Amino acid sequence: MVKAVLISKDEQGYQANVTQIDPKQLPEGDVQVAVIASTLNYKDALAITGRSPVVRQFPMVPGIDLVGEVLTSQSDRFKVGDHVLLNGFGVGETHWGGLAEQASLNSDWLISLPSAFNAQQAMAIGTAGYTAMLSVMALEKHGITPSHGPILVTGANGGVGSYAIRILSKLGFDVVASTGRLHESDYLKQLGASDVIDRSELSNSGKPLQKERWAGVVDCVGSHTLANACASVKYGGAVTACGLAQGMDFPASVAPFILRGITLYGIDSVMRPIIDREKAWDRLGELLDDQDLEQISANIGLEEVVEYAHKLLDGSIRGRVIVSI
Ligand code: NDP
Repeated sequence: MVKAVLISKDEQGYQANVTQIDPKQLPEGDVQVAVIASTLNYKDALAITGRSPVVRQFPMVPGIDLVGEVLTSQSDRFKVGDHVLLNGFGVGETHWGGLAEQASLNSDWLISLPSAFNAQQAMAIGTAGYTAMLSVMALEKHGITPSHGPILVTGANGGVGSYAIRILSKLGFDVVASTGRLHESDYLKQLGASDVIDRSELSNSGKPLQKERWAGVVDCVGSHTLANACASVKYGGAVTACGLAQGMDFPASVAPFILRGITLYGIDSVMRPIIDREKAWDRLGELLDDQDLEQISANIGLEEVVEYAHKLLDGSIRGRVIVSI
C-alpha cells in the first residue's frame, strides 16, 4: 500500500484525506514513479478544498507537479532509476497526481529532472516558477529590455509573483510589486522589487487609458487588475496573463490595444509543448541559485497538505510550499 491524498465526492460531501491506496488502483501509464517531492499550487489548493471545480473525476489524487524516480518504464525515453519532472498536462485534475508516494504516468508528459536542481528545489519552483519563467520569456520575446522601463508584477507574494520578481530582478529589470500584503514589503524587496504598491490601486474599475507607467506586466490575478494593467502599459508594451486570483473576468476596453499598440500574451503552462518546457527549465537553471529557492519556499509533509491548501487560499502563505514525500 502507498500513502496518498485522496479527494472524494459522495453522499458525505467533498472530502480530501490522507489515506492508503493499493498501487494497483493507480491509473494506466507507461512509466511508474516513486514520488520524491511534490508541491502545493493554487490549483491544487482549489482541488483539495473543492472551492473551484478543478477535479473532473472522483476519486482523485491531487498534485499537478512532481519529481519522481522511475520504478518501471515501457518508454524508450526513460529507464529505471531516472529522475523525472512533471508539470501539468491535466495530472491532479483528470489523472491521479503527485501528492502520493507513487504515480503512474504517460511518458509524453515527462522531462528529465534538470541537472541544476534536486527534487526539492525543482518543486520549490514547480508550476508557479515555471509559469513565471514562461511569462518573462514572453516579455523578452516581445523585445522588452530593462532600458524600456519598469515591469509590474501582480499577486506578488504568491508563487508565480515571487518567482517573476526574482527572475526579472536577476535579469536587471526594475520591478514594481503589487500586493495586498504590504507588511511583506521587505520580503518583496529582498526578492528584488524596487518598489511595492497596494493592490487596491488596481483592483477596481479604472479609466480605459491611464498614465503610461510600465514597459511590461506579469499579471497573476486577472479581472480589474489586468484591465488596469493594460490601461497603464507604455506605448508598444506587453502584458502577460496567467492567473485569475482576483477573478476570471476581464472588464477592459480596446483603447490601450488600438491607441497604444499594446499586446496581451496568454500564458498556459499546462499543455505547453515539451520543447518550451525544457527551454524554460534551462533558463531557470541558469538564473536561480540555492539561496533564491530557500528564500521563496517552505517544506511540509503529506499530512499537512490539506491544512496548507486552506491557508494558501486564505492568502496566508507567501512564496511556495514544497511537499516532501
Ligand atoms: P498563489 O495563491 O501562490 O498566489 C496568488 C496571489 O494572488 C496571492 O498571493 C495574492 O498576492 C494575490 N491575490 C489573491 N487574491 C487576490 C484578489 N482577490 N485580488 C488581487 N490579488 C489577489 O497562486 P500562484 O502564484 O500559484 O498562482 C497565481 C495565479 O496564476 C492563480 O490564479 C493560478 O491559478 C494561476 N496559474 C496559472 C497557470 C497557467 O498555466 N496559466 C500556472 C500557474 C498558476 P498578494 O497577497 O501579494 O496580493
